[in-house]
Amino acid sequence: MHLRAGDVLQRGQGSHDRSATVGALPLGRKVRSRGRRVARRERSTAAGGEGGGAGRGARRRGGLELGAGRTGGSLLRIERYAPSATNRPKPPTKLSLPPRIGLCRLRAHAPPMASSLVSRPHLPPRPVPAATLASTFRARVAAGGLGGLGVAAGVRCQAQAAGDLDSHYMRRCVELARKAAGHTSPNPMVGCVIVRDGRVVGEGFHPKAGQPHAEVFALRDAGDFSENATAYVSLEPCNHYGRTPPCTEALINAKVKEVVVGMTDPNPIVASKGIEKLQGAGIDVRVGVEEALCRRLNEAYIHRMLTGKAFATLRATLSMNGIVTNQIGKGADQSGGYYSQLMKEYDGVIISSDLAKMSTLPVSHEAGANQPQYIIIAQGESSRLHIPSLSKEHASKAIVLADSPVTVEPAGVEVAVLRQVDLDSILQLLAQRGLCSVLVDFREAGESFASLLNDFQEDKLVQKVVLELLPVWLASEGLNNLAFGGRQSFPLKNVEYRDVNGCMLLEGYVDV
Ligand SMILES: [Zn+2]
Repeated sequence: MHLRAGDVLQRGQGSHDRSATVGALPLGRKVRSRGRRVARRERSTAAGGEGGGAGRGARRRGGLELGAGRTGGSLLRIERYAPSATNRPKPPTKLSLPPRIGLCRLRAHAPPMASSLVSRPHLPPRPVPAATLASTFRARVAAGGLGGLGVAAGVRCQAQAAGDLDSHYMRRCVELARKAAGHTSPNPMVGCVIVRDGRVVGEGFHPKAGQPHAEVFALRDAGDFSENATAYVSLEPCNHYGRTPPCTEALINAKVKEVVVGMTDPNPIVASKGIEKLQGAGIDVRVGVEEALCRRLNEAYIHRMLTGKAFATLRATLSMNGIVTNQIGKGADQSGGYYSQLMKEYDGVIISSDLAKMSTLPVSHEAGANQPQYIIIAQGESSRLHIPSLSKEHASKAIVLADSPVTVEPAGVEVAVLRQVDLDSILQLLAQRGLCSVLVDFREAGESFASLLNDFQEDKLVQKVVLELLPVWLASEGLNNLAFGGRQSFPLKNVEYRDVNGCMLLEGYVDV
């Protein structure tokens, strides 16, 4: 019998909650004096830091902490309007590159390389090339002297420059969205940038399920400057009522003239309806800018939406002579280490009861990390399971899945006794509880734990593999095959690898 969610496990039922927001947040149409805006900016600067995933622009309004998702420092400083009597924006009348935008500025704003190999968006930064911007200018000059030929060249170059800027702003959306990695499930990570006259006037991201969406933060950040602006958003804006009005309505009310969308939302209650609503309101909509990057950002959310199961990544460490080991590389579980980052990014981690009994539970040491749910597999376990590193306060973070009754210490840990513990049912259960992603961590894994993976290929249960290769040779009594497998041979796809403190870390996708 397969585990059915709700049959045995009752607590913490999850649900898709993309629309979940807190309170009604009126948008746009605010008439704000220069003095008020400057004062507000000073207050938000004084607040400093990135509180609650809301960014440097965090500020309190109506008792709710809001933020724009901007980071401090020079790296992400994007030129913004400094409203004054003399530079108040006028509606744009023609396509023009920002007068002060240049190679250095764009490079300074380009997203940095993902700090972790396992970070979801992997594409390297792609700053707007100098040749593109320069050639636009040259083409314009040429157009004056060479007639139609020059005009054609100018149009072509401008189109290319516009495409590069689209790409640049969308990559910034993804960068903003990733600030909330590990916090948004069951919602997707989403970032939004509002651009007017070639300058960024507002930024935001969805910080956490239950809080406002990225568009809301970005539009609030932009205020009156949203009018006639272009909104870049990494995922199609929602068009359904949750605890706040839909983001499409917010964009329409703010009178943006164009919305550029990274990808459509696979959620059936959103899918393309948001785009249609915007178009129906006379807003130009373009879809598919940096789509691959946007899809990678939310691969777990997409997988859960399409399959009803959590996105699973198998992780293991291997010695040089091919033995799966409980060890992990030096510094891997410290702040900045790949393992610590995995614990931050994944909603849950499936571990063996042997690991739970022997070691401290894996945690993330990344700043602001939301620790994962622990799914502890206790097949063949005795009647008592003591988890020494789990405090009573954090007991609700763990679920024990066993095949016979077991008493767990500390008290308060949820236990489900199942006839058969299989990965398919577990992934469905986790998805129903609102987890988008889970790491199957192959540490201290005995035969029963390994059996979880018996059918992972046929049933497409594992989407990704992260393998760490340690430069050690472990004692072995003879030939020692890997203790987990499946029945098919296949090459991994989109494989990446890098050296981490003298260990080799490989990552690839399963697509059999
Ligand atoms: Zn929304």
